[in-house]
Amino acid sequence: MESLFGDAYAPQDSKSNLYADIIMPVPIPKMFTYKIPRNFADEIGIGYRVIVQFGLKKVLTGIIAKVHQKAPKEYEAKPILDVLDTFATVNPLQIKFWVWMAEYYCCHIGEVMNAALPSGLKLSSQSKIQLNPSYDSDQSPYPLDAREEIILQALASKKELSYEECEDLLGIKSIQGIIKSLIIKEAILVFEKVMEKYSPKVESRIRLCPPYFSDIKALESLFKELANKPKQEEILLKYLQEIPIYQKPELNIKGLDKKVFTDAGMTGSSIKTLIKNGVLEEYKIIISRFEEMNATEEKIILSTEQDEALQQIKTQFEEKNTLLLHGITGSGKTEIYIQLINEALDSGSQVLLLLPEIALTTHMVSRLRKVFGSKMGVYHSKYSDNERVEVWNGVLSGKFSFVIGVRSSIFLPFDSLGLVIVDEEHESSYKQYDPAPRFQARDAVLMLAWLHQAKTILGSATPSFESYYNSRTKKYGYVFLDKRYGGASLPQYQLSDILVDKKKNLLKLDFTRLMREKIQETLNKQEQVLIFQNRRGYAPYIACDDCGWIPECEHCDVSLTYHQFGEEMRCHYCGFKEKVPRVCPACGSGKLGAVGLGTERIEESLSLLFPEARVARMDLDTTRSKYGYQRLLEEFGAGNIDILVGTQMITKGLDFEKVTLVGILDADRILFFPDFRAGERAFQQITQVAGRAGRREKQGTVIIQTRKPDQAIFGQVISGDYKNFYLQEMAERQRFFYPPFVKIIKISTRHKDYKTAEKAARHLHNLMGDIQVKKILLGPEKGLVGKIKNQYIYESFAKLDKSGNAQAHFKHELQGLLMEMQAHKDFRGTRFVVDVDPY
Ligand code: ADP
Ligand code: ZN
Ligand code: ZN
Repeated sequence: MESLFGDAYAPQDSKSNLYADIIMPVPIPKMFTYKIPRNFADEIGIGYRVIVQFGLKKVLTGIIAKVHQKAPKEYEAKPILDVLDTFATVNPLQIKFWVWMAEYYCCHIGEVMNAALPSGLKLSSQSKIQLNPSYDSDQSPYPLDAREEIILQALASKKELSYEECEDLLGIKSIQGIIKSLIIKEAILVFEKVMEKYSPKVESRIRLCPPYFSDIKALESLFKELANKPKQEEILLKYLQEIPIYQKPELNIKGLDKKVFTDAGMTGSSIKTLIKNGVLEEYKIIISRFEEMNATEEKIILSTEQDEALQQIKTQFEEKNTLLLHGITGSGKTEIYIQLINEALDSGSQVLLLLPEIALTTHMVSRLRKVFGSKMGVYHSKYSDNERVEVWNGVLSGKFSFVIGVRSSIFLPFDSLGLVIVDEEHESSYKQYDPAPRFQARDAVLMLAWLHQAKTILGSATPSFESYYNSRTKKYGYVFLDKRYGGASLPQYQLSDILVDKKKNLLKLDFTRLMREKIQETLNKQEQVLIFQNRRGYAPYIACDDCGWIPECEHCDVSLTYHQFGEEMRCHYCGFKEKVPRVCPACGSGKLGAVGLGTERIEESLSLLFPEARVARMDLDTTRSKYGYQRLLEEFGAGNIDILVGTQMITKGLDFEKVTLVGILDADRILFFPDFRAGERAFQQITQVAGRAGRREKQGTVIIQTRKPDQAIFGQVISGDYKNFYLQEMAERQRFFYPPFVKIIKISTRHKDYKTAEKAARHLHNLMGDIQVKKILLGPEKGLVGKIKNQYIYESFAKLDKSGNAQAHFKHELQGLLMEMQAHKDFRGTRFVVDVDPY
């Protein structure tokens, strides 16, 4: 990094110049061409990270996408300042994948790069200080105070210091004032040091110096010398106890963690003395942030059904690259995956298994860990930058040939994928909403697999309609597993009419009589209950009983959710919060009441209805910490919780033997949502949460509370009639032009002034109307939520023909229109957001 502003500026030979097109992590529609200085020409290639100057002031990390000899016409190419890598961080397949993603999802390749590279692989800068070379303390007219002296002394022996190092030196928190004073006294210079963010984890180790670890005589005489120094003697004895080096000197190389001694109560100062006297030496090693775990020789015996499914998958893979594995909840898809993963790894390929959320599927992760041990890398959404970089490097180095990860793991540097599995492929969390690229990992990974010529399995108990459609039209293979593993039976459903109970005064704290009785029965049998309500907080909103006033967010067009914890009302869109008012600000009435059901309120009601039961809640609010989920799941698994209330988090992958009752409190809320996927999602959510019940010997029960028990969807969920439900919904989608029959592109226009937002949206809409492709254009209309974070939102939808190149043409033209709009003086400050295949 020293060469950053040094030899990179060395004069160039004008002949035979090499240039590089570089992807920059900025939202700009093109790549930039830079000159490759002679001295770097041999050490770079595609996929190397380089440092370049961007604009006047910025220095950024970019990635080389192409090397060529054409100088750019419109501008003079600046030189690459430095090269960060000694081997390519990103491979050519990844760059192809990024280019495709930017095109398909209508965003800039720099945005893709930003999403793809863990920020630990990008640069950061840190302020550092160094001694001013022209400073002479004897000549200086300014006297230094004691603290300033300390810093200057340190700088005499160390070339540079970071602010943190100065703080440690002085043992104080803020040193801005001291630095300022030293600058004024012309004693130091401050500069920005550009550095990689990633810092490997290091451990301090201690080992015996030569000759002691190989020469028993030297060791004996050492002990004689230490005869009256018991503390040092004790440390040596401990060392020899842990590493009997006189028998195997080579073991000494590993050394010991310093903590071994300090944990045993030995003093650091005696260790220091031994180091000073050349008996011990201290050194640092890089260690993994992840625990090393070995595979434990798990024998896998598939059931007849599983084995048949496996054979069918293999046969169909001879003709098809993508296959839908439709296996009901508890059918044991994981074991089939394990077989296929093993075979792919044995043939030398890499494997990627996508999961919607790692923390929620701990049993699956630990199952796979047992089989695959340390060759399996995990890519968690809550990982730190450093942990992400470690997984990235593990894939690069070949340490991880198999990765299980959340949606962003599709960007890892695979170079020979053979198999991709997308588990729970119907899950909406595969879609990235914000920021760009707004990709759907399940769809994007198919392109990745195609680039690698890999096979893909999409697995689900309730497939997305898109995937099911593709299997029915023979684009994908299809394998159906319709039996639960081990002969466990599917749960029994019962509908419970909320309105009937209400009329008869049998509804207590929102629980029907049937629901209460079943919960009590389950508790009596010492079994566990899951209660599902897809709304966090205490109540969706507060309302005035007298005038109907409902508090709304100041920045968004939504009502505030009431959270009893802290007596607060919070906006789930922007995070705004406010205390609950004592009286209604509109009419002064004191009758403000909570309306509707959130998980907090249900938790409270359950504690009142079943005072002896241990109730817990699992939602975004109780699982914010890194291991929040895990702790709750462990408690639940250990039987320390009787009733677990939760949002859609509890619908995913939970596999607990003692869960025999699942309650759905308000099925109508899931069904009546203004979206063409509402029915599909309701079917999926109800089936998935119901699938948590009775997964072993005991049959489970599912109680669904609803105000409209006679809807067809209930019958279809109960009989597991996915196909008929699908056919019926598909007829609607075909009639009204919805996916998978058309492609939808959503274009949102946002501005802090609603008139400008509307005007810009209309203008753009008209321009889009002129694009010469077969299409249906809807809007522009105020968004479903008309204002978020003080930005007014208007939306247009384009429905495009799937065949031919209507899509590609429309997207291409749209990019041009957006540039035009951005430059339009009437629409300054307008943001346009394009979402391809929106959810
Ligand atoms: P799914 O993901 O299809 O809902 P799982 O893979 O979680 O189902 O399997 C359901 C349960 O059955 C799990 O507890 C799993 O350990 C068990 N199981 C499935 N297949 C086997 C098998 N071949 N041998 C032993 N246990 C199995
Ligand atoms: Zn009021
Ligand atoms: Zn808000």
